[in-house]
Amino acid sequence: MNLQSLRDQFLLDLAQCTHSKDIEHVKVSYLGKKGHVSALMADLRHASSQERPLLGQQINDLKQEITQKLEARYEQLASAELNIRLEQEWIDVSLPGTARATGREHVIVKTLHEAIEILRNMGFSVQYGPDIETEYYNFEALNFPKDHPARDMQDTFYLQPNILLRTHTSNTQVRVMESTTPPLRIIAPGKCFRSEDVSRRSHVSFHQIEGLYVDKHVTFADLFSTLEEFFGKLFQSDLKMRFRPSYFPFVEPGVEVDVSCMMCQGHGCSICKKSGWLEVAGAGMVHPEVLKYGGIDSEQYSGYAWGFGLERIAMLRYGVPDIRLFMENRLSFLEQF
Ligand SMILES: [Zn+2]
Repeated sequence: MNLQSLRDQFLLDLAQCTHSKDIEHVKVSYLGKKGHVSALMADLRHASSQERPLLGQQINDLKQEITQKLEARYEQLASAELNIRLEQEWIDVSLPGTARATGREHVIVKTLHEAIEILRNMGFSVQYGPDIETEYYNFEALNFPKDHPARDMQDTFYLQPNILLRTHTSNTQVRVMESTTPPLRIIAPGKCFRSEDVSRRSHVSFHQIEGLYVDKHVTFADLFSTLEEFFGKLFQSDLKMRFRPSYFPFVEPGVEVDVSCMMCQGHGCSICKKSGWLEVAGAGMVHPEVLKYGGIDSEQYSGYAWGFGLERIAMLRYGVPDIRLFMENRLSFLEQF
């Protein structure tokens, strides 16, 4: 191919470039090592010595022209492409962003953590018992008689004979006693399960915190002052407290614990059903039989124990009327806490 027709061909090829990437192909086919211009250069050796300098000069001129035209066209195409991209990929920074939901503690977990924090500061350490328990630790070692109604299938979820979902966190008591020499002062938080009808006030799954203190000369007054301090801090209120006699197999004597209603300061309202008092826990002095099961000498040591339901506490603190709300994962409810 001679110089002139090569130049014409180049101009044609250049005119057909519609994208900056096409320029690279044309560049390789003309200016590459095996390109048309290199081929012309190689042909120079066939030219006569008189023709060679001029021909060489013309080839170099053509090479420069091709280089410049390719660069110019490249700039042109690339800047047009950039403009198209800027046009298409334009972002309106003033548009509102996508809101991401912020996670938070479930109100029961929040209440649990607050209660644990208060009790830790009062000298209790945290122990965890198993959710799946033997009949022995859940009932027998806690002095529940064989024919006690709580052992009944209607109240307890049995997984196998003798294996059940714990009905209370009290299952942790004897486990801890077995492995610890008094004095011991522990709390055992966790889930509990009972085969009950689900209603406004009860659920098959709920949370408790168990408290246990065993030492020499532990008295009822210790129990009273501990619970008074704890519930006062938890409800952030100057509470009155009262005990009513009650029966639990693992304590003797056993009591129900009431605090004065923080909604009406004891004057009577719908939350406390006009009584001025709210039932918050069950408690008592650890039964000597239970100490014995735990391998602790009941002549030398005494102790108190208490347990309360976290759902009940959260319902009272926040005025939640229905325990089922805690389990429904309804965001509009949970976001309030
Ligand atoms: Zn009240």
